[in-house]
Amino acid sequence: MEKSGEICKKHGCGNCCNPVRVRKGFKSHLGDEFEKLPFKDLEEVHIPIDEIETTELEAYSCDNYNKESGLCRDYKNRPQICRNSACRALDAQTDEEQQNLIREEQSQDFLVCKK
Ligand code: SF4
Ligand code: SF4
Repeated sequence: MEKSGEICKKHGCGNCCNPVRVRKGFKSHLGDEFEKLPFKDLEEVHIPIDEIETTELEAYSCDNYNKESGLCRDYKNRPQICRNSACRALDAQTDEEQQNLIREEQSQDFLVCKK
């Protein structure tokens, strides 16, 4: 489901962009569309510690990520995949609630395995 709002920019958060993490198999599911994205395969699998039994994510760097600002260089025109984040802050109503959920997202730990 597409999420609305400009929450990432408002809170100065680029957590989903460095690296980008997508479920294993998503790349082949998206096919040619995925190849057009500004992503580079880091050849890593990231496993959320909280979901160690169930979730494997493939990790990518993004050419649009600005290391200096920590944000997207072209947030307004970001690809659809970037608008469909599972970040719970996108559904939160108040700034405080958004900030708390963003902190939780940012503190999530991952086991990193090289492919
Ligand atoms: S964690 Fe949430 S606020 Fe931060 S970049 Fe991802 S979607 Fe945006
Ligand atoms: S295109 Fe922008 S919003 Fe999407 S992953 Fe890259 S830096 Fe993040």
